Amino acid sequence: MSFKSLGLSEALLKAIQKKGYTTPSPIQQKAIPPVLLGADVLASAQTGTGKTAGFTLPLLHLLSENPKEKYRPIRALILTPTRELAAQVYANVREYSEFLDIRSAVIFGGVNQKPQAATIRQGVDVLVATPGRLLDLESQGLLSLKRVEIFVLDEADRMLDMGFLRDIERVMKLMPAKRQNLMFSATFSKDIKKLANGILRDPIQVEATPENTTVDAINQKVYRVAKAKKTALLLKLIIDGQWNQVLVFTRTKHGANNLTKKLVGANIPAAAIHGNKSQGARTKALAGFKSGKVNVLVATDIAARGLDIPLLPHVVNFELPNISEDYVHRIGRTGRAGAKGEALSLVCTEELGYLRDIQKLVGMKIPSETLEDFEPDPNEPTEPAKQGQGRGRNSGGGNSNTRGKGKASSNKSSNNSNRNKSGNSRRSR
Ligand code: AMP
Repeated sequence: MSFKSLGLSEALLKAIQKKGYTTPSPIQQKAIPPVLLGADVLASAQTGTGKTAGFTLPLLHLLSENPKEKYRPIRALILTPTRELAAQVYANVREYSEFLDIRSAVIFGGVNQKPQAATIRQGVDVLVATPGRLLDLESQGLLSLKRVEIFVLDEADRMLDMGFLRDIERVMKLMPAKRQNLMFSATFSKDIKKLANGILRDPIQVEATPENTTVDAINQKVYRVAKAKKTALLLKLIIDGQWNQVLVFTRTKHGANNLTKKLVGANIPAAAIHGNKSQGARTKALAGFKSGKVNVLVATDIAARGLDIPLLPHVVNFELPNISEDYVHRIGRTGRAGAKGEALSLVCTEELGYLRDIQKLVGMKIPSETLEDFEPDPNEPTEPAKQGQGRGRNSGGGNSNTRGKGKASSNKSSNNSNRNKSGNSRRSR
């Protein structure tokens, strides 16, 4: 199948060619036709599958087909959970609309609102936004959503995780009832399905990969290790493997800062990216990472959402996430759009319960090994000391996924895991 056969306009085909894409990815093949037909679409797609182009290309096609008015109201709204994702989606919109008469803008918090308001005042067809700043500018009368024809809710699962449900509901009330709705989510919980019912009308459901499974192209591995030796093991992996671009996940902002300091102390160019960093610092860290000046980017889950780093070869879970779905998001940073990637997890004894839940979610046993001198510490506790640090998860979100209900996974390599019985109760959401 080609992009041309999907019915996209010449101007879009030219932009696609410029990007170097030859074939539409599976989610693009499935999502683009129904969007072009004007249908509401509910898409299950992981990061890295090409989902952004999956909604942006047909959206731009539809907008450019319809006549524009001199005064340009916002006709398409793309809502994303994080600033980074908003910036990334906007960059894509810009690239794909290069040969179209379409104006776009991005707005998010943490930066001065004045330039954003000024851009919108000049007329914008496509607005990419995070919920807070969008509602803020709207309440000041600086933008109107009354003419929105197409609404895209990107990474809906993360939106709920971050407590944006009320904001989404408020945004929906500001748009006309008659509009096309597209909703994308990597994982599908009951809450997501409920949200979809509230937003979408007779949606066409498309799926690029089975629900809640990890991308096949990713080579996953677990290193069982003593907690106190994780930093040394990471250094060894980076140095022995001569890695020059690795994304490392920690569970907390504090952990990210600490690890970054240690890496820099070991002469490995590293930078941290997390919610306490200013937008400028985040942008700089990401730019350094992309350009190769920074070899290791240490990130927390929320900060890492939406980072678009094509062909990222290595992702390391320095700590496993206490929410299994985050594992899927994290490792989706590698093996992007068909490229081969490696996702390694450094797992100490207290994290074995998390590992078990993750394996249930992804439906596979992740191969595990132990390196000499980095063996797990037999005296380590089997439960995490404290819980819920760092993520600042909102209080509202009830957990609705089904983890913990399946049979215990067979466990050849992590023989401590069945000491760790209270899997589900550990997690607060
Ligand atoms: P996304 O899942 O939207 O974050 O996209 C992941 C990466 O795949 C981005 O770097 C895109 O530029 C790239 N990409 C999107 N569509 C295609 C395609 N059809 N062929 C090759 N790369 C693509």
